[in-house]
Formats: sequence, C-alpha cells, structure tokens
Amino acid sequence: MTDYGEHEARTESWTQGTVAASVAGQLAMPAPGTREEAARRLPALTRLIRILDHAYYDLDSPLAPDADYDQLIRKLQALESRWPELAKPDSPAGLVGGGLSEKFASVPHPYPMLSLLDVFSHEEVKAFAAKVGGQSPDPRFLVQMKIDGLSVSLTYANGRLIRGVTRGDGLTSGEDVTENILQVRAIPTSLNQPVEELAVRGEVFMPHPSFERLNAELEHKGEKLFANPRNAAAGTLRQLDASIVAERGLSFFAFELQHASRSFEYDSEALEWLSALGFLVIPEISIASTGDQIMEAVDRIEEERLSLPFGIDGAVIKLDRLAERELLGATNKYPRWAVAYKYPPEQKPTRIIDITAQVGRTGRITPLALLEPVNLAGTRVQRATLHNQNYIDQLDVRVGDTVIVQMGGDIIPAVVRVIKEKRPPGTRPYRLPEYCPACGSRTDYVGEGVDLYCTGIDCPAQLVRHLSYFASKEAMDIAGIGEKTASALIEHGFVESIADLYTLHEQRDQLIENGSAGRQKSVDKLLEQIE
Ligand SMILES: [Zn+2]
Repeated sequence: MTDYGEHEARTESWTQGTVAASVAGQLAMPAPGTREEAARRLPALTRLIRILDHAYYDLDSPLAPDADYDQLIRKLQALESRWPELAKPDSPAGLVGGGLSEKFASVPHPYPMLSLLDVFSHEEVKAFAAKVGGQSPDPRFLVQMKIDGLSVSLTYANGRLIRGVTRGDGLTSGEDVTENILQVRAIPTSLNQPVEELAVRGEVFMPHPSFERLNAELEHKGEKLFANPRNAAAGTLRQLDASIVAERGLSFFAFELQHASRSFEYDSEALEWLSALGFLVIPEISIASTGDQIMEAVDRIEEERLSLPFGIDGAVIKLDRLAERELLGATNKYPRWAVAYKYPPEQKPTRIIDITAQVGRTGRITPLALLEPVNLAGTRVQRATLHNQNYIDQLDVRVGDTVIVQMGGDIIPAVVRVIKEKRPPGTRPYRLPEYCPACGSRTDYVGEGVDLYCTGIDCPAQLVRHLSYFASKEAMDIAGIGEKTASALIEHGFVESIADLYTLHEQRDQLIENGSAGRQKSVDKLLEQIE
C-alpha cells in the first residue's frame, strides 16, 4: 500500500532526466558539416524541441531553461537554412509558437500576430540597425521592454471590448478567451472614447506579488506549483472557470496598435493614443537612431530588470515610422522591421548558509542549499538544488561559499557557480550522509547511477511523501492533506501507513484536541473527504 505513487514518481524523474540529458547533448554537439550528418541529426533535434514545446505550451510546465530552448531553436534554424530541402513543412523552427488547445473555440486572426526574431548579442543588434536603418534617410527606432507573459489581441467596437484572442499559431487563428479577458482588471472593457474600430495587441502577465501569493496558496493546498510567472499567466488565462482568473491578479500592457479607424505616422504616437484611451502601455519607451543608442537603451532596461515588479525577458527594437514597416514587410515567420534582444536567465549572488540532505518520495537523497534569501525572477529564493554528489564535487561548493544562483525552467533555482575568491577560511568539502537523515538506515547508490538512495523500508520521510502524494489531486484528491498536515499526522502518531487514513475517524476527538489537522471544522471536513 505504501508503494503508491512510487512508479509514477520514477517515470516523471526519468522523463525529466532524459530530457535534460538530451538537451545537454544537443547543445554540446558542433554544427553538422555534411548534408548526410545533418539529415541524420535533424529528427532527434526536432523531436526534442517538440517535447519541450508540448511541456511549455500545452502543459505549462517547462522542462528546460528558456536560454537552452532558444539555443536549440537556433541550431535547428541554422541547420534548416543551410539545407532547406531537409526542413519539414511543420518544423517547430517555423512555428510562431503555442499550438491550440481544445478547450477554447478557435477564431481566425484578422491581423497576424507574428513573433520576433530573437538576437543575443550587441553585434546582431548593430547589424540589424545598420541593415534596416540604412534604408532610411532618418532612421528612428523604438526600444521597449519585452514583457514575459502571454500575447493576446483585443478587439473593440464603438469603444467596447468585444473579443480577446490568444496568439495560437500566430498566423491564422488563436483561442477565444474573451470570458477570461473580462476578468483581468487592467484591461479596459470600455474606452475613454467611443472609437468605432480598434484592435490592440498586448501582453497578459502575472506580476511578481500575484505570483508569490498564488504559489503560496497552491503550496498550502498541497497542489502543484507554477514554475514561473509566465507559466502561471498562461495557465490562468486558459482556465475554464473565469472566477479563478479574477482571483489571480493578472495584469496587462498594450504594446501594438493593430488596427484603428484612424492612422498614425509613428508607432510611438499610436501608443500614446492607446494610453489616452485607457490602456496601460508598456512603460518607458526609448527612441534611438543608431546601433549604439539602441544598445544604451537595451542595457538600461537590463539594469532595471531585477527591480521591476514583473518579469521581462528581453527588449524589443522596432522601426518607429509605420510607413517604413509597410515597405519592409515580413517573412512568413517574422517582421523584417523588428528584433527581440533576449537577456540571459536571471542570476544573482548569495551565500550558502547550510547544505541539507532531503529524502524524496522515492527514497532519493538530494542535497539542497539553504541560501541567504534573494529575490530572483519574481520569487523569494531561499533554497537551491545541488542535484547530487557529482554536481557538488564538480562545483566544489561548500557551506559558507558565495555562489551564483540562476532561475531556469524549474521551480527551484540552481547553483551554477562558486565565487571562490569569496570563500571564507575553514570550509570543508561537503559529503552526502552515509545514513538517512530521516530513518537512520544506510544510504547507497543504485547501480551505476549518480543518485543516492535511502535503503530503509519504513523510512518516515518517504511516508510523508507517499501520504501527501496519495492525497493529491493526481491520485485520491483528498483536499487538506498537504506535506505539512501529512508530516504532522505522522509525527503525532495518528498515521503509520496510508491504510491508517481510513480509520482516522476513530480518533476524531484526539485529532481536534491535538490540532495536527487544524480545528474542528477542518478535521470534520478532512474526515468527510476521506470517506
Ligand atoms: Zn530513510
């Protein structure tokens, strides 16, 4: 009985581990030199990107850091542009991103919602500025933050909001999420002027305070947390229950006038008009005319990035004069008049207060670094994973070290580097324990693996996991037994195995008195749920 969830947990970690290994392998491989080699490698790379896309867009649960994903896409694009005959028409490199889910009605886009070509270096930005600006006697660029959220298009008729649509495939159609859009308070349902026709594009996002509150609530209920604010925003906007959307505190910034019953010479003018109509427009827009000026603005945004109350993942650089955009047009993937400069993942230095060994649901022992708290990508970070003994040895990370932590695709950030110059005297290399910190049984490596396991059969740490997993939504869906309640019930001797849950009602009075599962109301609710 206590084996419940064991298989599931193993499958899950196997998939994640395999994907991580494939990503690392693909990133390490040099570009193929011959067509044969390219043809041989294309299927695996394509398949890996599809798996990552599915996890990211459909499950809102990313399996790789964004920076790694971007690099994989670039590898695929490079390969396909060198040997175009190898590219499949449905290649993920050509998709604008985000397939359609079946939950919402699909509606056609009157104006395509293209994504932007990503660039990663100053040289690429300057090359873009030279190429695009070189065709204009008086080039004028607009630089703005790239909000890390979910792109939507809003349609207004006679000043009233009539429809909200997600990007979907970007070209032809998206999902009709109007009901949910109406619950986002930052989106005006009626405009300050009764404009006859208006279509505006913007980003729905979850501000850091809303994200922290949401994950705290989910943790309290013992439910799965969102990995980052972007996934929380995407998951929320695709909720079938609009009342949940209202509670979660999504916000919105407009960034592009798609269509209106009046015209403008400059994009920046159009944005000012949107602001006058009642939209929150992406703050702090810079105007630049040279590559150097653009990079100044890009660097300024990057400096501000860590102190903003919402996530940004880059800066957008666009031609400001709308007539010039028309002239340049677009490829079938990207407009030629804009690029997105992507920042590297957020990193910050902090100090390791302690390293503890955690016993997982499967008995796996994982080292966890306890950190001096630091704010990173919308979350107050106090713990970071150190994966396993190998990882610790490779970094030579010790208690007392100052380290760089980085937010990747996972909910728990990783320690990526030790600043050795800041190491205090008297530190020692860290070794994972020989005995399980929860039950005292021997720990051992399984086969050739790098992971250490507790060998104890009745390990209480594993029981907490078994129990809270058993009660979770994925399994029996008993609300009220998160990890906290589960460990309290075990610690106070109410439960020694999962089977004990079903005789728990016999101890109702003691439970209420003891308080392990809350007051009388919560106890009765819990017992009712179990039955
Ligand atoms: Zn143990």
